Amino acid sequence: MKSRLNIAVIGAGASGMTAAITASKYGADVTLYEKNDRVGKKILATGNGKCNLSNMKLSVDQYYCKEKEKLIDLFSVFSTQDTFSFFNSMGLMIKDKNGYLYPYSEQASSVLDILRMELDRSGVRTVTGVKIVDAVYQAQKKSFQLTDMEGKTYFYQKVIIACGSPASLKNGEGMTGYEIARKFGHKIHKLVPGLVQLRSDEKFIKALSGVRCQAGVQLIINGEIQAGEIGEVQFTEYGVSGIPIFQFSRLAAYALEERKQVSVVIDFFPKKEEKEFLSINRLRYDSMMDKSVEDYLTGTLNKKINMVMLKQAGLKPHMKAQEAGWKKIWELMRKCRSFVIHISSVNPIENAQVCAGGVDFKQVDDGLQSKLVKNLYFAGEILDVDGKCGGYNLQWAWTSGYVAGMNAAGFSTKEKVKG
Ligand SMILES: Cc1cc2nc3c(=O)[nH]c(=O)nc-3n(C[C@H](O)[C@H](O)[C@H](O)COP(=O)(O)OP(=O)(O)OC[C@H]3O[C@@H](n4cnc5c(N)ncnc54)[C@H](O)[C@@H]3O)c2cc1C
Repeated sequence: MKSRLNIAVIGAGASGMTAAITASKYGADVTLYEKNDRVGKKILATGNGKCNLSNMKLSVDQYYCKEKEKLIDLFSVFSTQDTFSFFNSMGLMIKDKNGYLYPYSEQASSVLDILRMELDRSGVRTVTGVKIVDAVYQAQKKSFQLTDMEGKTYFYQKVIIACGSPASLKNGEGMTGYEIARKFGHKIHKLVPGLVQLRSDEKFIKALSGVRCQAGVQLIINGEIQAGEIGEVQFTEYGVSGIPIFQFSRLAAYALEERKQVSVVIDFFPKKEEKEFLSINRLRYDSMMDKSVEDYLTGTLNKKINMVMLKQAGLKPHMKAQEAGWKKIWELMRKCRSFVIHISSVNPIENAQVCAGGVDFKQVDDGLQSKLVKNLYFAGEILDVDGKCGGYNLQWAWTSGYVAGMNAAGFSTKEKVKG
């Protein structure tokens, strides 16, 4: 009888568990190594504990990746619909909240428990508390030799590296996957925090701390607009946060690494047409000109924002609107649509939800096998692919895990690519 292919998956996160389950279902003998004492820890923190596991609006535009064509092909092999089927078949009910997919329970632990049960059911050998620190290819044995932190060695015909990234981890953890990949000759693109808060040294920042508001935000790098988003912006003690900020934070991180000038420009009235905005303010001025400028702003924005705006315009809060004059008031209101915050840095990787950069995506084929070392595969965030907020990073973990798992087990996903 032909013996089963033996495969090691390093890392039991979202992508590693998917890869292990898939490879096992396709007949391989799979061992899944996890350095923590339990699998899938990061999943529990996703989506504020609710796990936003995918998105109905899956598109490569939601990703930063240097080879979009390959990404299109990979998503045509395993898309949002496949995520539905994958989880439904394991017994997980899914909820669609305006296109954002969550487990029906809205508990990330349900997703993890379902995956754990499936690991058992599909016969994957799961080994926790074992950190793989080295991997080399032994040509004589036609196998990879893995070494753990105690120096014990293990041999496998194929290896899938799914070690994730240092995002959200402390003390420089999460780097071994890259070190192993580098030893095999892979290029690692500069790692920076992605989906992270931006920091500013502006004096007014502290005064805005705690404010949350809907706003339009543009990212400006060396004087040019690089990205724009609308959503809830959150001001913190040290800077700005919230989904619109997260969405382009990796661009800011790379620009700051390159010592470029980075700022964000905030429009506190993102949905107002300029003409309508002008006429509303003219009417308000006409009826409130006998009030103080502070009172004039009452009923517009959060009081903390109003006070910062008045200060920037050089207006005393108790000065009458009439005394300031329409021109100055209109200038003040327009400033609320282009409020500039200079960015000094991004929060460190331990605060980030994902890590941008990683193993060169061009150095893996469309089955996620290394082009440099046969029978070595990659899955998940370790690759130089990162998505925006909205379930896209987990979708990448499921997709890449499935593709790596199936190909490693000796079944090509190529014919599944829908042209
Ligand atoms: C707070 C937070 C919230 C998030 N929310 C969402 C969300 O709602 N939706 C979404 O799509 N994405 C979200 N993400 C991102 C998403 O969780 C990740 O992109 C995804 O989990 C990456 O999966 P992965 O398998 O590549 O890596 P990981 O999940 O990081 O798994 C890698 C595993 O490998 C193990 N490992 C590493 N090195 C070794 C080694 N040498 N030996 C053995 N084991 C090793 C690690 O311990 C880890 O368990 C969030 C992330 C964070 C931090």
